[in-house]
Amino acid sequence: MSAALQPTLLVPERRRLLELAELPWRAQLRHIITEPEQLAQYVPLSDREMAAIRQAAALFPMAITPYYASLMDPDDPRCPIRKQAVPSRHELVVERSDLADPLAEEADSPVEGLTHRYPDRVLLLASNHCAVFCRHCTRKRRVGDPNRAITRRMLERAFDYIARTPAIRDVLVSGGDPLMLPDERLDWILGRIRAIRHVEVVRLGTRVPVVLPQRITPELVAMLRRHQPLWLNTHFNHPRELTSESTQALEMLADGGIPLGNQSVLLRDVNDCPLVMRDLVQGLVRRRVRPYYLYQCDLSRGIEHFRTPVSKGIEIMEMLRGHTSGFAVPTYVVDAPGGGGKIPVMPNYLISMAPRRVVLRNFEGVFTVYHEPAHHETSCPPSCDHCDQSRPRGERWCPEVGVGKLFNESSSTISLVPTDLPRHERRGAGSPSPAE
Ligand SMILES: *Cc1c(COP(=O)(O)O)cnc(C)c1O
Ligand code: SF4
Repeated sequence: MSAALQPTLLVPERRRLLELAELPWRAQLRHIITEPEQLAQYVPLSDREMAAIRQAAALFPMAITPYYASLMDPDDPRCPIRKQAVPSRHELVVERSDLADPLAEEADSPVEGLTHRYPDRVLLLASNHCAVFCRHCTRKRRVGDPNRAITRRMLERAFDYIARTPAIRDVLVSGGDPLMLPDERLDWILGRIRAIRHVEVVRLGTRVPVVLPQRITPELVAMLRRHQPLWLNTHFNHPRELTSESTQALEMLADGGIPLGNQSVLLRDVNDCPLVMRDLVQGLVRRRVRPYYLYQCDLSRGIEHFRTPVSKGIEIMEMLRGHTSGFAVPTYVVDAPGGGGKIPVMPNYLISMAPRRVVLRNFEGVFTVYHEPAHHETSCPPSCDHCDQSRPRGERWCPEVGVGKLFNESSSTISLVPTDLPRHERRGAGSPSPAE
């Protein structure tokens, strides 16, 4: 029965929900909504929906803070808040393209709970809990699983790995949600990371400002300040999440001197619309949050119904770049299945090229020619202070992997070739590339 038909029935429950939604964070977690019967008090649910919730929650649990539940529109089954938090029968569908560990985070894990994919930074899972279990979570298969709790011993091994890997200068503390930890434990984790001399920056990835803004307390901010330079990335997906409570949480963090970023996920029927996205990014910068990434939805199991074509993301980027402040425009990325990392994708602005001429187009569709300089010697001088200082042995900085390798003047590599190229297999085993 819909709420519109029985408004009087819902009113006291609604009032109760709004009261719970204002509680401090620990009290709110004691009232976390994990059962369909609880949810049905606040949001009208049919028997069919209740059964679907029970089935889907058996695979990936449901947890919704009273605060986040209070943002749901009880009269709208298409409500973007509801879609992100309430389990649906679509989660039971397994597609052929679905992968258990789409980003190969476990394959790239030197010690449990740590992913080392990029040369100079690592991802550390510090907690396995979240205030709200997002239905679109890419780590669905491990988040909230009591058998996958992060132990002190695992963390010790991760600190040890970071300490003996001097290339790591950036540690991304994520989860689950690291702000689900008590202040003391997070203080300990950040302190241990900070004590490693070669770690230059620490980042927190957290959805707490969106789903439990009351968690951002003056005590927490004071503690985080002691671990500067510390960046915080949060995860707003829809302008409706930018409430007065979340605004206040972001204000406390920004006033505390913590640089803020946002990572959204492109979600079908939630935010796959240029206007929704524009309102979101503009709302974020007004609150001193820099839109950082817009993620293409991963191939995780149980989130197929959230996926959009990549072209939808390109369309959104087309409508943002140039049309609003440059620093409100996130980088749209596809996290490569199999662990290749984030690959940026965007509309084509480079239309054509000829020697000394580059044809570009702008956001309005104006085509323009950029004349390249007649003299463009870029070879390095025999001696360069910057190189000499940053490279003790005096070699030029050039990445040892990727296209950068082809730019390296002192390298004999002339091509990058897939190891299983049939053409090369025909030439005989053991000669993967003519360039090596
Ligand atoms: C996203 C990610 C990072 C951080 O990437 P940035 O582009 O530096 O933000 C690091 N490690 C892993 C495994 C990641 O998925
Ligand atoms: S807060 Fe992050 S880790 Fe937790 S369920 Fe949501 S997306 Fe997954």
